Amino acid sequence: GANKIIDLLQAEIARQGMTERVDVIATGCHGFCEQGPTLFIEPEKKFYRHIQAEDVREIVEKDLAQDQKVERLLYKEPLTGELAVTYGDINFFAKQSRIALKNCGFIDPNKIEDYLAQGGFEGLKKALQLTPDEVIEEVKASGLRGRGGAGFPTGLKWSLCRTNPGDKKYVICNADEGDPGAFMDRGLLEGDPQSVIEGMLIGAYAIGADEGYVYCRAEYPLAIRNFQIAIAQATEAGFLGDNILGSEFSFHLKIYAGAGAFVCGEETALMASIEGKRGMPRVRPPFPAQSGLWGKPTNINNVETWSNIPHILRNGSPWYAQYGTEKSKGTKIFALTGKVNNTGLVEVPMGMPLREIIFDIGGGVADGKQFKAVQIGGPSGSCLPAELLDLPVDYDTLAQAGAMVGSGGLVVMDETTCMVDIAKFFVNFSQEESCGKCTPCREGNKRMWEMLDRISRGEGKMADLDKLEQLARTIKETSLCGLGQNAPNPVLAALKYFREEFVEHIEAKK
Ligand code: SF4
Repeated sequence: GANKIIDLLQAEIARQGMTERVDVIATGCHGFCEQGPTLFIEPEKKFYRHIQAEDVREIVEKDLAQDQKVERLLYKEPLTGELAVTYGDINFFAKQSRIALKNCGFIDPNKIEDYLAQGGFEGLKKALQLTPDEVIEEVKASGLRGRGGAGFPTGLKWSLCRTNPGDKKYVICNADEGDPGAFMDRGLLEGDPQSVIEGMLIGAYAIGADEGYVYCRAEYPLAIRNFQIAIAQATEAGFLGDNILGSEFSFHLKIYAGAGAFVCGEETALMASIEGKRGMPRVRPPFPAQSGLWGKPTNINNVETWSNIPHILRNGSPWYAQYGTEKSKGTKIFALTGKVNNTGLVEVPMGMPLREIIFDIGGGVADGKQFKAVQIGGPSGSCLPAELLDLPVDYDTLAQAGAMVGSGGLVVMDETTCMVDIAKFFVNFSQEESCGKCTPCREGNKRMWEMLDRISRGEGKMADLDKLEQLARTIKETSLCGLGQNAPNPVLAALKYFREEFVEHIEAKK
């Protein structure tokens, strides 16, 4: 409903003769999606949510009139647990540390001038004054690790690609975001596409690449449209193309729409898809840094990783490294969804406990129900129980708990959720998305789903639990790519933390 509100606002502002003084800016999502349509009034930092057509006239009259003081707000209803009047006072925003999301919801993503006004391309200018090796050292010093799931150190990844010989190199942005409940990449590409372009430019300069691709899922038409506009504007402004900003560095960028296969988020499948082949993973080595797109050294990072890069170059690695924990620096964007009051995109320092994210920022469990579990990391991740709510969210701590940060999906579950059904849901997702190349994943996930289905229908046996665990471990150890290797994670975590629910289903039969 936001587009209609924008039209009404513009008409009302014109009717009241305020067009010289008041701009209406259509932005990307600022994160509080569930409260939409929303409206921010700057510079007063006033926040309206669930705006209806009939609110528009009153807002313009009372809040935008020149002599109006900012003393009251027109909340249609108080925010959950809040009576705050500006967005800085709302826990959902106040407890976040926004670096990658800094511009989302505050600039017009289709105007490069807005991005420039926020310091856009200053990071690139700084990078071009350094040698490529110095840029890589800066990224290494920041401690940034890949935000796509694996958490591999970004600077090290770049240096591996840089040192591999090749007359031609590529950089790729992986925007094939497919985890159920995840929309971090979408938010960034729709709301701040120039930050991704700038990050890729800096990476290409550091690695020695002159061509790049953004591989974006076709189910994100607005992200693709905004990114195409951003490419055209950056080219027009001299940030893309030949001899960028008068330097010898040239970089050309294209966007490629995927065809809906989850497995194309895997690096080698993604590159096969760009090459026009069926998107299937291949054995590594060779790694993409050695032989990637069309056999050339290639560096792939995801959207969030790229969008952090301009901030690191602009503000320096010590600034970035002040956020987060010793081994997981910086911030992470999470898509907070499920049975939680405040759903949306949140960006927090690495190491923030789950409890703070879910209860302070997320406003707790919806409808006054009890918290039961949180699924972190999508179909490759795990469900964590209430006992682990104080776990700091960082790569290493979560790995020790048998979970993973993943790309950043956080699905909250309440006391009514059946954990056998949840495990079954994620295994069903993985078996449908399996490309079928290797047997453990192709056959194993189907068999695992059948066992879970039997148990959930009350037709399981106690012996199934051991078989299920054994099969899950075999699939993990013998599958070719990350999809198969991680597909059993939701089952293993459910068996570890919620085994009694499996037993209850089996016992109920007797
Ligand atoms: Fe394909 Fe699954 Fe094997 Fe990956 S693990 S190659 S998705 S069959």
